[in-house]
Amino acid sequence: MGTTTSALDRNLNHEEVLELTEQKSAHNYAPMEVVLTRGEGVYVWDKNGKKLFDMLGCYSALNVGHLHPKLVEVMVNQLKKITLTSRAFYTEEMALFADVLCELTGMEKMLPMNTGAEAVETAIKMSRRWAYRVKGVEANKAEIIVCSGNFHGRTTTIVSFSDDPDAHDEFGPYTPGFVTVPFNDPEALEAAITPNTAAFLVEPIQGEGGIIVPDDGYLVQIREICDRHNVLLVLDEVQTGFFRTGKVFAFEHEDMRPDALIMGKALGGGIMPVSAVASSHEAMDAAFPPGSHGSTFGGNPLSSAVAIAAIELMKEERMDKQAAEKGAYFMRKLEAINSPLVKEIRGKGLLIGMEFTREAGKAKPYLKKMMKEGVLAKDTHEQTVRFAPPITITTEEIDQAVALVARVIGG
Ligand SMILES: *Cc1c(COP(=O)(O)O)cnc(C)c1O
Repeated sequence: MGTTTSALDRNLNHEEVLELTEQKSAHNYAPMEVVLTRGEGVYVWDKNGKKLFDMLGCYSALNVGHLHPKLVEVMVNQLKKITLTSRAFYTEEMALFADVLCELTGMEKMLPMNTGAEAVETAIKMSRRWAYRVKGVEANKAEIIVCSGNFHGRTTTIVSFSDDPDAHDEFGPYTPGFVTVPFNDPEALEAAITPNTAAFLVEPIQGEGGIIVPDDGYLVQIREICDRHNVLLVLDEVQTGFFRTGKVFAFEHEDMRPDALIMGKALGGGIMPVSAVASSHEAMDAAFPPGSHGSTFGGNPLSSAVAIAAIELMKEERMDKQAAEKGAYFMRKLEAINSPLVKEIRGKGLLIGMEFTREAGKAKPYLKKMMKEGVLAKDTHEQTVRFAPPITITTEEIDQAVALVARVIGG
């Protein structure tokens, strides 16, 4: 007879978790040496019961913090009804999700997927179809312009236009049809446009690229250029979206609108993988008649219910205002440490990058010390620490976390 014990009943210690993970799973991440067992709000607890600040916030997927009670309630209620149907059938949850997301984005249509990379792929396919069916580009000639330093995900097509060697090299042959221009350079964009250009795909703030904020006016300028040349402007707001930067979407910092918006991360309320593309009728309907695209899990009723609840929660609690105020406060507090190791503190709202000087070296050793003090954060591009804590963090908690950071980098 089989045993009645489950693997979940095995109680591994810290060392065993690390060992088993290293032995039995791919080494495609280099995790910090902490085993997380529980989360609540801005806090997580490790195997030894130590409480830490989660200042990474799952790369901006945890905008409402760990296990927000309102979202847990919606999730549990939905778990008692129905979770998975496939898109072969209609569900009320998906209909309402589409309605709520179109209202929030001001777009006419949406297409639900699960991960950010899938939503980016969806936007690429949509742009190409639009180019052939609406703009009149010759078959298989469509080009999409992207930016150097971009991060849009990890699929074979997306890494084809990444200039990060770790993400890109030796994964070829690469998908053709992408042209790279420098970020924050409208003239380079205009010079790269040809009659075959379908879209310009860009992040309003480069997140993985090191929290790179473009000059004021950049978004308005690229909007104007795309309009003039009949090119779709596709914004990847997977990281910057959903109240993180002090606006509902980062593009709202300027007087412009994209043609298509790519969303993910925080859309799932820190609970489910939920992503989506939203755009005009014209682009979406031209691109995607029945059978042209899909996903087994995309738009499932459980994800849809959680996404609706997450959007409503962030809206009700004015997380845009909260992120703007707390982000400015957080940046002032970090500046006030006046660390000789820090070159620059930048960002928008609660998406903050702290770049170390060349002399200070890589961020990683400092991050390990911060972890010992009780603050979890991660580096992007080696020299820069990214802070993207839950927007629910209080000013007192910011004070406490910054005091712990100061113990490591203070002068
Ligand atoms: C994280 C991220 C993605 C990819 O999302 P996944 O869910 O990891 O596939 C795409 N674009 C941006 C800007 C991101 O930050």
